[in-house]
Amino acid sequence: MFIVMNPRSTTEQVNHIVRLLDEMGVDNCVIERAGRKGVEVLGANGRVDCTALGKAPMVDRVLERAEPILAAGRQPGDRTAELPLGTNASIGGPRLGIIAGPCSVESKSRLLEIAAAVKDAGAVSLRGGTFKSRTSPYSFQGHGERGLEWLALAREETGLAVVTEVMRCEQVDLVARYADVLQVGSRNMHNTHLLAAVGGQSKPVLLKRGWGASLEEFLLAAEYVMLEGNSNVILCERGIRTHETYVRNTLALAVVPQIKRISTLPVVVDPSHGTGVRDLVAPMSNAAIACGADGLLIEVHHAPNEAWSDGAQSLDLEQFRSLMDRLKPFAKAAKREL
Ligand code: PEP
Ligand code: MN
Repeated sequence: MFIVMNPRSTTEQVNHIVRLLDEMGVDNCVIERAGRKGVEVLGANGRVDCTALGKAPMVDRVLERAEPILAAGRQPGDRTAELPLGTNASIGGPRLGIIAGPCSVESKSRLLEIAAAVKDAGAVSLRGGTFKSRTSPYSFQGHGERGLEWLALAREETGLAVVTEVMRCEQVDLVARYADVLQVGSRNMHNTHLLAAVGGQSKPVLLKRGWGASLEEFLLAAEYVMLEGNSNVILCERGIRTHETYVRNTLALAVVPQIKRISTLPVVVDPSHGTGVRDLVAPMSNAAIACGADGLLIEVHHAPNEAWSDGAQSLDLEQFRSLMDRLKPFAKAAKREL
């Protein structure tokens, strides 16, 4: 059990909870990190009078089973955090943050061509992997620092914010030197060392949901980043593994409104990895915006059939432009700007 205190609670009010628990004869432990406060009840849950605790001053809520989400948690009246996407855009505010680009950065000329096209279609950010987390060790693993230089060049030419993945703790400084937003991929969502390392630097972090992770595990991963001092975390729903075979992953869109209930972190949806199927990307983008997503992450390639990775789910330049056009009525209905 965990008693979540209002962040404005005083030491005396926290001590009051401790006294109540002591009187009930249960062990407890005060947790206070980065301005977030709570009291963990250790064992003996049966002996705890939750009603008395819930009524104590400045108690936000009493969690009987779920893990506490403190740093990323939403208090009544809180708004979604608006986080910077480079210097020209943001995510979590009225304007939708559309992040688009190739799965892998393949060459300078191809990247610049794609960047110019997605910018022209209305994207505010360019994505592209140069350290790739591939399932097979025999697949292309990315161009590394050379690819980061091309991404920085694309930013110079277009003004787009650069989102790119960091795979290891030792790469964090290097990637942070070039990127505007550091992506932690699905395979690394459980890597608490990497989460802490990206939390120890100041660039925003785009955290992708592990494909086998529950929503609670996803939010707890965000807590690992935030507790190191970096509260600029963008959550990305990218689909989970289920028994389904007609899609690569099952896009769990219900987490979007659920995250909005629990957390202040902005959430983007990745319908490219979330379906693995090009033709499903546009309809799921519409659905994502309709259910409250703050942005989209979409794989775009000038020649998807020749892409070095994830071609089957990548849109070509014209398909991306058409998606952006058709998204407009959904953005309007959701009272968002595009
Ligand atoms: C990617 O964004 O290209 C990627 C590898 O995503 P994920 O970690 O969601 O599989
Ligand atoms: Mn990909």
